[in-house]
Amino acid sequence: MKEPTLGNPQNTIEVLQKYQFNFQKKFGQNFLIDTHVLDKIIRSADITKEDMVLEIGPGIGTMTQYLAQAAGKVIAVEIDKNLIPILEDTLSAYENVRVINEDVLKVDLAELAEKENGGKPIKVVANLPYYITTPIIMGLFENHVPLKSITVMVQKEVADRMQVGPGTKDYGALSLAVQYYAKPYIVANVPPNCFMPRPKVGSAVIRLDRYEHTPVQVQDEKLMFRIIRASFNQRRKTLANGLKNSPELNFSKEQIEEAIASLGKGASVRGEALTLEEFADLTNYFSHKFKE
Ligand code: SAM
Repeated sequence: MKEPTLGNPQNTIEVLQKYQFNFQKKFGQNFLIDTHVLDKIIRSADITKEDMVLEIGPGIGTMTQYLAQAAGKVIAVEIDKNLIPILEDTLSAYENVRVINEDVLKVDLAELAEKENGGKPIKVVANLPYYITTPIIMGLFENHVPLKSITVMVQKEVADRMQVGPGTKDYGALSLAVQYYAKPYIVANVPPNCFMPRPKVGSAVIRLDRYEHTPVQVQDEKLMFRIIRASFNQRRKTLANGLKNSPELNFSKEQIEEAIASLGKGASVRGEALTLEEFADLTNYFSHKFKE
């Protein structure tokens, strides 16, 4: 199979000029122009010819070429119709790639994995459009897309939020949601000069390995996520006040105080001090003892 031709500034500029492509800010377009970073992503995603890879936002096909070389099959979903003729050109030497011109948030990815990979778990690899990082990642988990791992470039600050534990300023609903479904691991930090155009923020590659069994057991997953959201909605408030004031929850003041006390915590504890296990225990206490 053909060696990748993209991934450096000269070839990227050549393709962009050939097609007179204009970057669209609203689509979060920052294309990778560093072969070392591309190699690192492909290596850390651990792709073999057995794998089907879903790439979100192939751009001009830079990473897609690397993925096509390593994987059995690549499905790339790109929203910008102006990139489709470019992708037809840059990916013409790769027979194992299918490009879909769609908004990834509107695609039924579980159905796509079923059709294209017989329901076997897929790997997601992408340099994500940063404006929709969270909905993309949460959508993959919550819609039960069969997944082995997600290896993605995200804003550095968001990568930090995904992997930190309680008691740090970055800890929040995203940390808990990600860590409920997967084991996070930051692979590399990537500076703005590895992209064209340069983003204003630093970036990082993070790998999320999907758990076969979630690390905590909760009777009512949806209730746990409502409790988590309520706990972090008002950061400076106590956990008790966060839960009392939430429009998403209907427990009484007494029920909330009893449930928090069951954790062995004082009344002034804040949500950001609780581990995932403690959120699970709190949720199970509510589900066993009280009706909303
Ligand atoms: N993979 C390319 C690279 O690394 O050079 C491009 C990455 S760029 C950060 C993000 C890509 O996602 C762009 O090509 C953009 O058009 C595409 N994109 C943005 N929003 C999208 C959406 N909702 N669905 C699918 N693709 C999207």
